[in-house]
Order: sequence, then C-alpha cells, then structure tokens
Amino acid sequence: MLNALKLSDINKSYGLIKALSNINLTIEDGEFFSLLGPSGSGKTTCLKVIAGFESPDKGEVSIFDQIVTNIPPFKRQVNTVFQDYALFPHMNVRQNVGYSLKVKKLKGSAVEKAIDEILEVVNLNDYGLRKPSELSGGQRQRVALARALVNKPKILLLDEPLGALDLKLREKMQIELKNLQRQFKITFIYVTHDQQEALSMSDRIAVFNEGKIEQVDTPANIYSKPLNSFVADFIGTTSIFNKESALKLFSHKKAFSIRPENILIFETEKQLVGLKKDDYFVTNGIVTDCQFQGSHLRITYSIDAKSKVSAFKSLEGNINQKYDVNSKHIIAWKKSDITSLNE
Ligand code: ADP
Ligand code: MG
Repeated sequence: MLNALKLSDINKSYGLIKALSNINLTIEDGEFFSLLGPSGSGKTTCLKVIAGFESPDKGEVSIFDQIVTNIPPFKRQVNTVFQDYALFPHMNVRQNVGYSLKVKKLKGSAVEKAIDEILEVVNLNDYGLRKPSELSGGQRQRVALARALVNKPKILLLDEPLGALDLKLREKMQIELKNLQRQFKITFIYVTHDQQEALSMSDRIAVFNEGKIEQVDTPANIYSKPLNSFVADFIGTTSIFNKESALKLFSHKKAFSIRPENILIFETEKQLVGLKKDDYFVTNGIVTDCQFQGSHLRITYSIDAKSKVSAFKSLEGNINQKYDVNSKHIIAWKKSDITSLNE
C-alpha cells in the first residue's frame, strides 16, 4: 500500500510550549484519517507541519515517499480547508474558487470549466456570483471545500471544517464529506475535537494529548480497546476505576474502564437470581444523578468515595421511568466487558 504521508519523529515548540513531541505517523493513500484531541493538544500544529505552513524543529515529513520537510506549501500535493474558511470577502464564489488556478497561471475557458465542474460537485452552481457575506454557513463551508478540491490535491487537510455549523447541518455535511472523499478517492486528514465526528467518519484515528499521540487505531478499537485512561475518558462516556479501587472493590490488579451500555441495574437482590456471579463484577451503587436522554436514562452511581459509574438504562416500553437520587441499586457488569488500562 502506498503511503500518502509519513511523519518521522516530528517535534515543534513555541518558546517553552511543546506543541508536538516525537510524532510518528503513517497514513495510507485513500484513507480518511482523523486527528482527534482536546483543544490545545497540537492538532492544528500537526496539520500546519504537514501543509508546510510551519517547519518542525526536528523530524521529517514525507508525502508519497518524497521528503518535503523543506519544500514550501504551494509545491506540496496538499490543500487545506481552514477552520474559519478564510474566503476572500471582496470576491464572489467563482473568483474565490478560481483564485488558486489563476495563481497557477491557468487562463480562460479552462479555468471557467474547472470552476463549473467543482461548483456542480458541491451543489453551488446557482451561487457563483454571490459574495461570501450573501451565503449561509453551510454554503460558505462548501465554497471553502470547492476552493481546495479544484486543485485536485492528492491529500486534503481539513481543520475542524464543520465546527461553525449547527448540529443538523454538521451531520448533513459529514455525509457529504464522506461522499466527496469516495468520489475523489483522495486522502483526507481531518482535525476535530468531536469524538462522535471522528468515530463516525474515519478509517483510522490518532488521539492527541498535550502534543503526543496516545493511540492510533480504527474507530471500533479506539472505542472498545482504549490503551490508557486518557483515551478511555476522552472517547464517549466511560467510567474508570483506578488501580487502588479496582483492587479494593473487585480484587482486580489493574485500573480498568467500563462503558455505560455494559452495566446491568438490579433494583432488588431477587433479580440477581440466575446471574453467573463468577463472570461478573457486582457492587452496590447509590444514584447521584438521573438524566432523561430520549431513548434511555443516563444514571450516575456513587460506588465509594473515589468511584463513580455511569450507566444507560433503555426506556423501551416505559418512557416515564426514572430513578430518584439516593436510590440504592445493585449494579453489575461482565468481567469480559472491562478494558484494563495501563497507568
Ligand atoms: P489544537 O489545534 O489541538 O487546539 P494547537 O496545535 O493549535 O492545538 O496548539 C498546540 C499548543 O501550541 C497550544 O498550547 C497552543 O497554545 C500552542 N501554539 C500554537 N500555535 C502557537 C503559536 N503560533 N505561538 C505560540 N504558541 C502556539
Ligand atoms: Mg486547532
């Protein structure tokens, strides 16, 4: 398989701030790859190093097996869609989209044809003469995409491209982006702090934390086999028992995490009859919070002074069910559903 990108031991500091530490990453041609992490974890800096807008203090960037560390951005086979779109406000849609072709000295009907084609792809044929200020957020987002795609880049870098859109539109654009990637067969490197977005769109994900990569894996493995408590905690809802609590409560020798959908709730001892106790961790919990979330309740239990557990209870058939704070329940989960964590 051809490598679209290889980062080898990339380091980048801003004064005393270490924005990237020893980043090693290989992305295959055609992958939808996400850089996921909280704000300030180094995602944008990493994207800038790939694009060539920042040079690393140390390390090497290769694009399609060619070392490009010292090659300027416009000579790399990548294009970037920025977080704020960075459209030219005084130019209309066609001028914005055609700008980089003009810079490349393309002229006349070839430029017009390329603009027509790409506006068709992003569904903006009727908006060519409008200025960015005369468009909705979603339309501006499409112009930014068209402007990047018109160059037929081999790698498209996207920095939180849907961050400014409301939830409904974001979900719609997520599907459109996936379709565009399939259609153009290009490598997408996608920055987001939204774990749901990364899980639903990506072939693989790199989880960033304080300038380091904590884990690189498929969405399913990132979700179900987090390598450490940072990843477990950052991805979805999860409850973490530290080593001390794991040992004290369950005689388990390692810290572990457990997902809310794996937790069984019993209101009385009687309901436990038939449960193969050897296969389960069973404990008592006191309800500290109970939220209605549409199809299910999200219940938070206090186990002891140090441990809390979140559980989902499906509301199938009983939409009005809820639990009072301070109710005492027995909660249990299969030993095979926990993920042991390295701490
Ligand atoms: P993210 O995109 O994950 O939010 P960034 O890559 O933008 O994170 O930033 C990583 C760290 O580097 C942060 O601590 C940020 O404040 C710092 N940083 C980024 N750009 C600069 C800069 N131009 N000058 C100084 N510090 C910067
Ligand atoms: Mg950023």
